Amino acid sequence: MGHASMLNRPEQDAGKDVWNAYLHERANIAGDVEDLWCHDMGCAAWIVVRRNTISHTIYEAKLANEVRDAD
Ligand SMILES: [Zn+2]
Repeated sequence: MGHASMLNRPEQDAGKDVWNAYLHERANIAGDVEDLWCHDMGCAAWIVVRRNTISHTIYEAKLANEVRDAD
């Protein structure tokens, strides 16, 4: 999936192994991913960007809060 999986936060009492994986384990995917980007120098919105890490093609960008609330 990519870093947009960070939108799926574990429950507070999920345990240290679950929280360790959530905070520190990342897949380095070659191909299509969904990343979580922040428009730091602009409106500060968090954005889910669907892109390809090999070709650098960006397919789609959506506001992260809309993606999270759709689940
Ligand atoms: Zn912005």
